[in-house]
Amino acid sequence: MADLVVTLNAGSSSVKFALFAAEADWPRLIVSGAVEGLGAKPRFRVDVVEGEGSETKLAGKLTYRQAIAAIFTWIEEAYPAAAISAIGHRVVHGGLRFAAPVIVDAETLAALREFIPLAPLHQPHNIAGIEGAREAFPHVPQVACFDTAFHRGHDFVDDAYALPYSYYERGLRRFGFHGLSYEYIARRLRMIDPIHAEGGVIVAHLGNGASLCALKGGRSIASTMGFSALEGLPMGTRCGQIDPGLLLYLLQSDGMTPKKLSKLLYERSGLLGLSGVSHDMRALEASQEPRAQAAIAYFIHRIKMEIAALATVIGGLDALVFTAGIGERSARVRAGVVEGLGWLGLTLDRTANARNDSLISAPQSRIPVFVTPTDEEAMIARHTIETAGLSDAAR
Ligand code: ADP
Repeated sequence: MADLVVTLNAGSSSVKFALFAAEADWPRLIVSGAVEGLGAKPRFRVDVVEGEGSETKLAGKLTYRQAIAAIFTWIEEAYPAAAISAIGHRVVHGGLRFAAPVIVDAETLAALREFIPLAPLHQPHNIAGIEGAREAFPHVPQVACFDTAFHRGHDFVDDAYALPYSYYERGLRRFGFHGLSYEYIARRLRMIDPIHAEGGVIVAHLGNGASLCALKGGRSIASTMGFSALEGLPMGTRCGQIDPGLLLYLLQSDGMTPKKLSKLLYERSGLLGLSGVSHDMRALEASQEPRAQAAIAYFIHRIKMEIAALATVIGGLDALVFTAGIGERSARVRAGVVEGLGWLGLTLDRTANARNDSLISAPQSRIPVFVTPTDEEAMIARHTIETAGLSDAAR
């Protein structure tokens, strides 16, 4: 039996997990699942790739730790403990120190805790996942895979804020996130279109969290996200680009506390705040409310602006890729972006776009536009296999 690798992706209201067989060329998915709706009505969902999917309902509220314990209990019952060779974790922040995946020991875990103030909404969940896994499988190596690592090679001009230089030295930088998704897409694009993949590519990861990444030769050059996962595009409930003077005003003249400000920027803004209807793109598209339509228009507007800016950073655009929930499934958002960038050399094939085809640009388009599903779980599994040294052939 091949080595089995578990991946854990602890998000804000769900914990996703998957089991992969550590095969030489690419990890093979066996089971994927999640505990969703934490804090409200939790559901434990399991999808077995070659078999019957099952869904178990959990009653009452669940803490993160209980959700993680429920996942590991399920795995222990379904698979012999000895078959689990490594556990890979998505960790949102690796700070300046971690530019690659790492096996977690006590010292690493302490370092990851130091990054909690940098990502207060995500990092504690990621750490809870690692601690829960260490309790359930104390002898199995745990590998931390960072959302920031893929971006650590950015040039100074894309890494710095124009604060006094000592702040940059302290590590107050434009880290960028969604790195596991971008790394996966960069690899996939090399298979789909190896020539354009070597050029300047912009990837639009548009989910509840949304950002853009500019790639050159498959490497991250710049991202719209910065020090925190608030910067750049507006998102489901996060504000995206904002004038820092406005934040000062809210603190000084509105008497807002840092806690309230954080809640405003992370949870009450973005598509939800603008529309007053929902954070969810599907709901906005279905809504007749003018503000829902205005929120979609704002989202598209910002994406177009940022694509033009990033195209400058990489010296011109050779391909555009859409991914994640909205990128993979919202024909309307993609059409708005692509048709608004005709001057840059993009021409949409409306029929292909309406079908969510993998290539949605017209044959005469100077620049190809792809829709490529992302797979952060497979990327975590791949890193885990390599970092834990499970398969020589995978190196
Ligand atoms: P997360 O960042 O939480 O992983 P996803 O990548 O799953 O989020 O993306 C969620 C977003 O994708 C939501 O705004 C959802 O409405 C949107 N979405 C999913 N399917 C569709 C669809 N068919 N049309 C438009 N938007 C969609």
